[in-house]
Amino acid sequence: MSYVDEVFEKVKAKNSHEPEFLQAVEEVLESLRPVIEKNEEKFRKDALLERITEPERIISFRVPWVDDEGQVQVNRAFRVQFSSAIGPYKGGLRLHPSVNQSIIKFLGFEQIFKNSLTGLPIGGGKGGSDFDPKGKSDREIMAFCQSFMTELYKYIGKDTDVPAGDIGVGGREIGFLYGQYKRITGLYEGVLTGKGLTYGGSLARTEATGYGLLYLTAEMLKCNGQDIAGKTIAVSGAGNVAIYAIEKAQQLGAKPVTCSDSTGWIYDPEGIDVALLKEVKEVKRARLSEYAAARPSAQYQEKQNGEHGVWSVKCDVALPCATQNELDLEDAKMLVANGCQAVAEGANMPTTLEATEYLQKNGVLFCPGKAANAGGVATSALEMSQNSERLSWSFEEVDQKLQGIMVNIFHNLDHAAKEYGMEGNYVAGANIAGFLKVAEAMTAQGVV
Ligand code: NDP
Repeated sequence: MSYVDEVFEKVKAKNSHEPEFLQAVEEVLESLRPVIEKNEEKFRKDALLERITEPERIISFRVPWVDDEGQVQVNRAFRVQFSSAIGPYKGGLRLHPSVNQSIIKFLGFEQIFKNSLTGLPIGGGKGGSDFDPKGKSDREIMAFCQSFMTELYKYIGKDTDVPAGDIGVGGREIGFLYGQYKRITGLYEGVLTGKGLTYGGSLARTEATGYGLLYLTAEMLKCNGQDIAGKTIAVSGAGNVAIYAIEKAQQLGAKPVTCSDSTGWIYDPEGIDVALLKEVKEVKRARLSEYAAARPSAQYQEKQNGEHGVWSVKCDVALPCATQNELDLEDAKMLVANGCQAVAEGANMPTTLEATEYLQKNGVLFCPGKAANAGGVATSALEMSQNSERLSWSFEEVDQKLQGIMVNIFHNLDHAAKEYGMEGNYVAGANIAGFLKVAEAMTAQGVV
């Protein structure tokens, strides 16, 4: 049995109840096959793949808090410190009822390669809780965040582990978390990223993931002889990533016509009105039906099981920006039938393995999330640099660095794919380019 198969069998046996984690490991290991096979005995002797698929540490803890009725609530939380081979652990915190160890491990595992691809010195980690922020008052959110940080602070620090936001964690939550960290430790340090501008945040961090996704998509299209200007784009999600992806797409001359949330989706053939979308989702924290109510050109549809949602709309480019496994094989078939030419993942693992393969086989340019959405973590690392220097860079300076990083990421994965005989396979290119740096650092640091 090949070393890759051997390790995947072991990972499956040890983590049989963690489907999302197994899906992520399988996808990465499959595409690393040619790299591993070149040096199989050395990797096997060093147990490199066994080490890289086993988190350095998983912290699991209880988060008790009191709701507005005086009732005590208890949530389960995690921080997975996956790999510190190339820098302090770095990765977001997710607050969503679906959060479990499998999801946090899959995200932490992906984060290792994503962070490596940015070219910046950051390791891989991820955390979160099954707390549902929906419908909670600001006081309840604060109570939860303070209790969460009262345990988490023991394991994080500006040079050890620097969490950020993810689904359900935006500026409000980062503020509460930072306040509690400072109160407990007395330290005013860059322990979290995504902070507000008045207390150490970076300009352009809010926009970074969505903007970065578009910078990379534009470069991918350009290198394949196409221009993003004039393209019709289907976007899913209506959160941080989706909103700023839509904004940048418009700035680059493209036309995003869809967005979605957990209750339904919008088709707006005249192009999404970003100011209205921000008002509905960022300010009012309301449902997308309110967008449709305020905009005559928009059609709103309630989400229904088994329907294709935004992927049924005719588009040139599709940008899934909501959540994992939201674009399946049927959706991929629909996109191909409608002439879609490129898919770039704003969310983490939004496309199922079968859908990815189908898109690739049918000539659709496909860029995986670990490359396409790396702009967020890259700008988080820029926020860490500014905190260390105790300086703040201008919006233009950060945005320019972000653009440079995203263009560079695309060329690195394009180059890696070509070098290993898989030209145009950006999934393989991203995994290989991300892996090689981490593997080299692990080898250099001995058996740790
Ligand atoms: P947000 O919480 O800001 O937004 C998520 C959006 O997706 C919301 O509109 C939400 O709907 C919708 N959504 C969530 N779950 C579902 C579902 N099951 N079905 C349909 N819609 C759903 O999160 P982000 O925008 O920050 O994150 C989106 C994705 O991007 C995640 O996969 C995240 O891991 C990834 N990502 C985020 C980065 C960042 O910097 N924020 C960086 C890199 C990756 P509703 O409004 O109803 O809640």
